Amino acid sequence: MATNRTFTMIKPDATQENHIGGILSMIEEGGFRIVSLKKVLLTPERAGQFYEVHKERPFYGDLVKYMSSGPIVAAILEKDNAVADFRTLIGATNPAQAAEGTIRKKYAKSIEANAVHGSDSDENAQIEGNFFFTADEQF
Ligand code: ADP
Ligand code: MG
Repeated sequence: MATNRTFTMIKPDATQENHIGGILSMIEEGGFRIVSLKKVLLTPERAGQFYEVHKERPFYGDLVKYMSSGPIVAAILEKDNAVADFRTLIGATNPAQAAEGTIRKKYAKSIEANAVHGSDSDENAQIEGNFFFTADEQF
């Protein structure tokens, strides 16, 4: 179910540089409806839990530190083909490889501080959305 939804975070580098509005505008102009939205400061424990799938990767420790270094904006988004279309809108993980017109091309500073998160599957979109939002916050 909910295959027309994805989950995103505006990461600490982008919130600290006042790009929340700019990024949300690109998301809405990209045809996504904002279903759920909140600004949160993750503890290192919560950030570590969110990125548990990357636990074995060499950048995990730095990623957890970075994702808890300042507030993030979490959102559930809705659109046909949401997961794939949102990955297209955000661009490649490494902003040096991100296409023109993508959110990461415009706002990402590095492969780590890359402005936004986007779910990689319908299943993860649901898990990640439920990590931040209760059922009555998803409408
Ligand atoms: P994506 O966010 O594009 O799905 P991954 O799931 O591979 O990318 O990685 C999760 C996050 O970890 C990235 O968005 C980025 O913030 C960070 N990251 C990925 N690869 C690296 C790397 N080689 N060095 C530092 N940080 C990285
Ligand atoms: Mg990923």
